[in-house]
Amino acid sequence: MTDTIDAQPTVAPIHSVEQTRKVVTEIPGPKSRELHERRRAVVADGVSSALPVYIERANGAILVDVDGNRFVDFGAGIGVTTVGHTEQSVVAAAADQLQDVIHTLFTITPYEEYVRVAELLAAHTPGDWAKKTVLVNSGAEAVENGVKIARKHTGRRAVAVLDHAYHGRTNLTMAMNYKAHPYATGFGPFAGDVYHAPNSYPYRDGLDGHEAAARTIAYLEKVVGAADLACLVAEPIQGEGGFMVPADEYLTTLQAWCTEHGVVMIADEIQSGMARTGRFFASEHFGWQPDLVLSAKGIAGGLPLAAVTGRAEIMDSAHAGGLGGTFGGNPVACAAAIAVFESIERNGLLQEAERIERTLTAGLERLAKRYDVIGDIRGKGAMIAIELIQPGTAVTAKQPNPEAVGAIVEFAAQRGILFLSAGTWGNVLRFLPSLAMTDALIEDALTVLDDALAALG
Ligand SMILES: *Cc1c(COP(=O)(O)O)cnc(C)c1O
Repeated sequence: MTDTIDAQPTVAPIHSVEQTRKVVTEIPGPKSRELHERRRAVVADGVSSALPVYIERANGAILVDVDGNRFVDFGAGIGVTTVGHTEQSVVAAAADQLQDVIHTLFTITPYEEYVRVAELLAAHTPGDWAKKTVLVNSGAEAVENGVKIARKHTGRRAVAVLDHAYHGRTNLTMAMNYKAHPYATGFGPFAGDVYHAPNSYPYRDGLDGHEAAARTIAYLEKVVGAADLACLVAEPIQGEGGFMVPADEYLTTLQAWCTEHGVVMIADEIQSGMARTGRFFASEHFGWQPDLVLSAKGIAGGLPLAAVTGRAEIMDSAHAGGLGGTFGGNPVACAAAIAVFESIERNGLLQEAERIERTLTAGLERLAKRYDVIGDIRGKGAMIAIELIQPGTAVTAKQPNPEAVGAIVEFAAQRGILFLSAGTWGNVLRFLPSLAMTDALIEDALTVLDDALAALG
């Protein structure tokens, strides 16, 4: 049973795909349009698709649709296929595990793969104290469990989050998001005792880390009171909110305040973690050692898995039987996650993330000199964004320009490039590619982006 963990891959179906873009039909093509009609009859309208091209195969940084178009993927399923689509060692590990055991339920009869993932998370999350982990299925479920554990540990009720945060779509996490629409509108009533504190947004607030932290702390002390605050949840680099990189010392100042007042500080690394930013966890960029770290998206190469990892004494406050769930830590997802950790090391993926940052930001800086619609370039590693504003308003209002983002995304899609939007006002264009994204593909995408910016007029 244990031999699969360190064994070389025994199943390696190679479905490799040429790493170039190719558009052979109109977008969406006829077969995608046909599938879309079928979908409209049976898939709930609340589930929408940003680009309704139906994908048949994916490899590396390329998606192939049912009409034979090849798309350069700057979304990676929102930062999930960080090691690359169908990375062969991940495919092989999952395939091997499927033959051995698909499910037992760890809370009935456990298995080694779950333990190994917990060991890897303990070794790679920031902080060199004793750590423990619980595995669950989704990011939102990790957030829910982080809050549960923090409340049990502190005996306190209140939960604080930051402005522009995104934490998921369950009832509690809907209350934790900044944006009501589309995540929460009409879906209430929502969980109470959730407080939204000001964040650090250097492009718009102009505050240094200490000033921004002082503003956040003043809010928490005034509106909540430290004595009632169980936890403060923060994304080290905000994802859906628009890739805001906080000012230096913002997060560490908040952590020091939390520690002083017995508040559990939780890093939501669901989008920023697992090598995405050139570190295993983005918290490392800021010298932040959170009490608890939440992982999901990139952890298992595309299989559903999520985790809460943190200080053993906090994690162990939950009583036996208090944590779990039927599919949490599924063996196949765990086997894939082990392969992801190995792939990050073996393929030097932290360096690949830094390479992507260099190539992408250099190109974006060149474009920003020519197009004043680009107000800000920010991010780390393979988590880079541009914030678009109405030209001429840069100095004062920095008026958001969601129309420009929409036009660029559409222009690029027609040419075989998948870009994603983000941002509280929808005015952020984010680049969240897999670490298999080559410099050649980035340069190609920058050329298309140049044309898209020129076409804005
Ligand atoms: C995606 C995301 C979540 C929610 O994860 P799901 O797996 O979609 O539930 C939570 N926090 C952040 C920062 C995310 O990017």
